[in-house]
Amino acid sequence: MKGYGRFAPSPSGDLHLGNLRTALLAWLFAWSTGRGFRMRVEDLDRVKAGAAERQLADLAAIGLDWDPPVVWQSQRLERYAAAIERLDAAGLTYECFCTRREIQQAATAPHGPMGAYPGTCRDLTAAERAERQAAGRPAALRLRAAVTEFEITDELHGSYRSAVDDLVLRRGDGLPAYNLAVVVDDAAQDIDQVVRGDDLLPSTPRQAYLATLLELPVPQYAHVPLALNAAGQRLAKRDGAVTLHDRIALGETPAQVFTLLADSLGYPAVTTPADLLARFRPEKLPREPWTLDPNGLLQPSSYP
Ligand code: GLU
Repeated sequence: MKGYGRFAPSPSGDLHLGNLRTALLAWLFAWSTGRGFRMRVEDLDRVKAGAAERQLADLAAIGLDWDPPVVWQSQRLERYAAAIERLDAAGLTYECFCTRREIQQAATAPHGPMGAYPGTCRDLTAAERAERQAAGRPAALRLRAAVTEFEITDELHGSYRSAVDDLVLRRGDGLPAYNLAVVVDDAAQDIDQVVRGDDLLPSTPRQAYLATLLELPVPQYAHVPLALNAAGQRLAKRDGAVTLHDRIALGETPAQVFTLLADSLGYPAVTTPADLLARFRPEKLPREPWTLDPNGLLQPSSYP
């Protein structure tokens, strides 16, 4: 039996058109493959008050729907702790006292991937650990990875292999790390299809590896192209009228914004999610980023 697709925004502010487009793609991939669709608010950090509610309202306003309940990561801390406990009990973790700066300055481990954690704290003696603890440094908990690379299959990118290092499971401030939370939650929510921006592709082999260590199923992945501004950089709030609220303030309707998103996927003049779903063919998806000039958006002639 098929599971669910999902969208998992971090509530750090309003979604921009690129985020809305990724959400629409996740929704299309899920429903078009006979799956349900779920929503998860990744509110472990970078939370702006009220942002999650606005994000969900914006997604509903452009016509997306999902199976309840919405899952909030901040309410699931015991699940992450249980997963970390399991890895710990299997001898797969160690405490790390390095600061960010120390990690940046340390040479990459021999044969290790670029930018990977060099393993400074991997084999500390009990005395060395006690010394660091006594100095009051908050310890993060890292995975003792047995591999340096892992391969996944992506619907759009094919076989994709990238670095796995001793990634952080629990941060120095005690919060679970994103990579751990995402793996635990996708499995708990029966997510067997992950559609998200291709900026997250490099972290995906780590997540798949972590899933296998936790004996959780690895979902199907599709990493989709991002939206760029006119200068070719990743679209951001500062690029102009890029959120649904910005567009509404300019006199556009959510339906018109939906039409713009559908057009960006290669389906011009489609006005409703149901109509788009009926036509959607994943293999026809543009493989290049969507470049838009937020100040020159929506031509009135293309409005529904
Ligand atoms: N919360 C992440 C973000 O908004 C997405 C995580 C995911 O889709 O796995 O960038």
